Amino acid sequence: MPHKKTALTFWGTRGSIPSPGKDKSKYGGNTSCIELQFPNDQLIILDGGTGIRELGNTLVMRNKQVRASILLSHYHWDHIQGLPFFAPAYNANNALTIYGANHPQFPLGNVLSSQMESIHFPVKASSLAAHISFKELSAEVSCFEDVEVRILRANHPGTTFSYSFSFDNHKLVYMTDNELLPNTAQAKSHIDYTRDNFIRFIHGADTLIHDAQYSGREYEIKKGWGHSHWREALTLAAEGEVKQLILFHHDPDHNDTLIDTLVKEGTALLKEMSSSTRCSAAMEGSTLYL
Ligand SMILES: [Zn+2]
Ligand SMILES: [Zn+2]
Repeated sequence: MPHKKTALTFWGTRGSIPSPGKDKSKYGGNTSCIELQFPNDQLIILDGGTGIRELGNTLVMRNKQVRASILLSHYHWDHIQGLPFFAPAYNANNALTIYGANHPQFPLGNVLSSQMESIHFPVKASSLAAHISFKELSAEVSCFEDVEVRILRANHPGTTFSYSFSFDNHKLVYMTDNELLPNTAQAKSHIDYTRDNFIRFIHGADTLIHDAQYSGREYEIKKGWGHSHWREALTLAAEGEVKQLILFHHDPDHNDTLIDTLVKEGTALLKEMSSSTRCSAAMEGSTLYL
């Protein structure tokens, strides 16, 4: 019998705000959410952007008890806003553990309740019948059953985590909302930034999912906002000898044609750099088998 692989599904690929539209139907309009379904049925969900709603509906249709670990990169809207719409959270048979960074001004336990206050939301947080627990991550390495998880602080306003997962001889890195500074730029850095740290963290990854929000001159205007020019993600992946780079956190103003162009230009640029890294862009609804 062939060995079962881990399935990675993109439920939301967009950054900042949902941006549905005919011209975005290929890469999708929902904000950050990725499902990792492991062969032993373990379920890890990365971020709770609006994409998590559709994932929840799919899990409900499977008609099985849901036990999931939800790892949040940080608590900006586009990474948490789908959580109150995650249907399995309303079923008492289900158990969810939500993980994230310690933030002095914002306890992780408030990530659901604060956005469900009556001024913002019609349903009270007390209606969430599932067993929901919250765990702040601080250690650099944790284990989720057979999956080793490492964290590194990203260059983004507020404490933001990048996650590296090692399982079954595969290294997957999820690095969204991370501003890579061009070597010449004097951008404001939110952390004690060294590019070497990032390269060490991603080194040799089979799959790197990286923030590639800006193209063209956008970065010049939005320096310090905590997102990368797609070309910086590309050079980082090449320097880190990553096998496959997946551009992620697409700008709400980028349509399918533009993202297609970035992938095409990225592929050509990697070839020019004699890098063997492959480049693609995260597509809502697509599944990769790792
Ligand atoms: Zn974001
Ligand atoms: Zn953010």
